[in-house]
Amino acid sequence: MDTLTVVAHPLAGHLLAELRDTATQPERFRHVAKQLATVLVLEATRGLSTRESVVTTPLRQATTKLLDRPVVAVPILRAGLGLLEAVTDLLPDVRVGYAGLERDEQTLQPTSYYLKVPELRDASVLLLDPMLATGGSAAFAASLLKEHGASDVQLVCVVAAPEGVQRLAAEHPDVRVVTAALDDNLNEVGYIVPGLGDFGDRLFGTF
Ligand code: URA
Repeated sequence: MDTLTVVAHPLAGHLLAELRDTATQPERFRHVAKQLATVLVLEATRGLSTRESVVTTPLRQATTKLLDRPVVAVPILRAGLGLLEAVTDLLPDVRVGYAGLERDEQTLQPTSYYLKVPELRDASVLLLDPMLATGGSAAFAASLLKEHGASDVQLVCVVAAPEGVQRLAAEHPDVRVVTAALDDNLNEVGYIVPGLGDFGDRLFGTF
């Protein structure tokens, strides 16, 4: 699947092992999730365009490179919040939007109960959703972002299921997925296996 990048960095595997471990408590989970998100965001931002700039070092002038397009991060509430601080730390000028999605109990389709996004037209957009399970929410969120003008969207997630990767690739072949792991499958209630359980619950201690 050429939309998928599984980050092969040894630290990504090491940090993910701790997130997967059921013994990892919320405070530690939040800390490690942020560390892993840093690794993932470094990969997701690898292709950002830059422009040359000249600065004066203590020794002479140096030609440097600066990011030349805005970056927007959009966490999907609530689990996506666990990846946000890594982005705001790495990219202090990042603009942040929020997407609140829920499943309509009648149609079982995702709906949006909250959406607030800055200008997306010329931005590199990082959609933050740690668990790419069925792909329904991610595909819906990508559509919403495109309706609001986005044309460059990447999904940053911690664990992806093949079902979700396939669905997102089918509906949004232009959306790259950056993840720490491609897991085996979904179980009958939509959890990723082996996965790490409910990311939001593990992040916020709501078991
Ligand atoms: N969301 C989660 O938090 N975990 C899963 O395994 C699937 C969806």
